[in-house]
Amino acid sequence: MPAFRTAAGKASQRIMPPDLLSPKIIPPPGGRIVILTGAGISKESGLETFRDAGGIWSRVRVEDVATPEAFARDPERCHAFYNMRRARHRAADVQPNAAHQALVRLEAEWPGEVVVVTQNVDSLHDRAGTKNLIHMHGIYSQARCTHCDHVADWPGDMSVADRCASCGQTGGLRPNVVWFGEMPIAMERITAALTDCDLFISIGTSGNVFPAAGFVAVVRKTTKAHTAELNLEPSAGATLFAEAHYGPATEIVPAYIEGLLRTARLHDS
Ligand SMILES: [Zn+2]
Repeated sequence: MPAFRTAAGKASQRIMPPDLLSPKIIPPPGGRIVILTGAGISKESGLETFRDAGGIWSRVRVEDVATPEAFARDPERCHAFYNMRRARHRAADVQPNAAHQALVRLEAEWPGEVVVVTQNVDSLHDRAGTKNLIHMHGIYSQARCTHCDHVADWPGDMSVADRCASCGQTGGLRPNVVWFGEMPIAMERITAALTDCDLFISIGTSGNVFPAAGFVAVVRKTTKAHTAELNLEPSAGATLFAEAHYGPATEIVPAYIEGLLRTARLHDS
């Protein structure tokens, strides 16, 4: 585990940034950065959050559309809900924003590995161009066959009449999203990244949804990594982070990434 360097200058905590936020501590160039993102990063792209007051789960009952039991009981109702969500994601006004793009820039310019783990089921990170990306809760724009587990891209509407391209059966296709009561995807890969990282950044997450809400504790317990929260307001787990900045994602994420890359360049020269 390489030694940490303290960034030049004193970072201001909990204060709205100018164009640049100086990270309090930066990992050495070559270090691994793990970033967890949640609904807060997509909000400014025009997508509703699920858990905020007035969010989707305040109007639609989880147990009617987002559990394996709901799908078994009334698949058409589930499909109707997800077809509506998928259509919203395809709308022209829903585009990756400056925060998504800042993470693409970090991946391109940081002299080490960057892993983005997202709880979001939208495809905005993908569309922005993030490559090393784990969709731990799945993604709307894919179908998974409950008969044979085949996963296929599925940008349009889905129904019980659709046929699986792999096994040929109908009635088995469901959105490839993790429903309540189901295990998140790729937890082994995620745990491996968390337990060997030098910087962990949490962006736009409520801190209420496990296991993601427990990632910062895993990092703190198993590594010497620096931890930072970038969010609109303090999350439920805010006190677990060594550093925090609050404001709209499109402002604080690009500023933080710029600060990180600038300090890395100074370190390099
Ligand atoms: Zn199949």
